[in-house]
Amino acid sequence: MFQKIIVVSLFAAVILGGGAALARQSAPAAKLDPQAPEPLSAVKIKGDLYWLKGGIMANSGFYVGDKDVTVIDAKMTPEGAKAMIAMIAQITPKPIGTIILTHSDGDHVNGLTAFPAGLRIISSENTKREMEEAFKDEKMAAYRAYLPTVTFKAGTVFLPEGLPARLANFGPAHTSGDSIVFFPKERAAFVGDLVFLGRDPLVHRQKGGTSFGLVRNLREILMLDADIFISGHNDPETKADILSELKSIQEKQAKVKELLDAGKTLDEIKSALGVQTPANNRWPSLVEVIYLDLKEKRF
Ligand SMILES: [Zn+2]
Repeated sequence: MFQKIIVVSLFAAVILGGGAALARQSAPAAKLDPQAPEPLSAVKIKGDLYWLKGGIMANSGFYVGDKDVTVIDAKMTPEGAKAMIAMIAQITPKPIGTIILTHSDGDHVNGLTAFPAGLRIISSENTKREMEEAFKDEKMAAYRAYLPTVTFKAGTVFLPEGLPARLANFGPAHTSGDSIVFFPKERAAFVGDLVFLGRDPLVHRQKGGTSFGLVRNLREILMLDADIFISGHNDPETKADILSELKSIQEKQAKVKELLDAGKTLDEIKSALGVQTPANNRWPSLVEVIYLDLKEKRF
């Protein structure tokens, strides 16, 4: 096996390339409703790299290699994944050989059982750990045969054998194990749920995510020598889009810190920043995440 692991952190920019100018503007956010998804479509990014837009929940993508196809993220349900597999078959007769998972959330991995068993499945070590935890549930027993078969350590760049892509993990952010999948020749990167446009990003603290880690990850993404960024729930983004997300998080962090330092409670901070929590809110607001990160010193 010739898979290489390169330890990075401060050197990520050197390994992954310098910054790049951008011209594209992103389109509005994709629908998040699994009951009424946008129709699935395959959009060529460049060369042999495709973005799979719409379908059941999170976006995915694929790369047609010399011998086989690599899929990036596996949709939310087996039905969603079957539609994706059928769409790939319309573009190439080559079999799917590898699945890369950007992170462990169900809307990115729960389609796995639609794929043949025995494929190479790649993720960060922490993503595999989160999947093992989720698959302890007896209802998820069928997924235990789809745990990642190749993993790489937190804070490293990984070069998968036979694939002209670089995978990188820059520490906890949206979850504990987010991976960026960078295709240098195509100047494109799949960034999972590290990037959200038109809304506050989600940070899963229960999976070890942190808002400050997300800021670090976004800074690393901005150093990629890429022009197009495919995230889980939006149309492709530019560096300008990502920079605006980064600034918006940092502004919120600064405001929450100022109010916390002034002795305000979480409720007072939320009310000062105009955060409304719906009665059935499943995810805490970014302001709450920042407040807890600061309180628990998760910088
Ligand atoms: Zn996610």
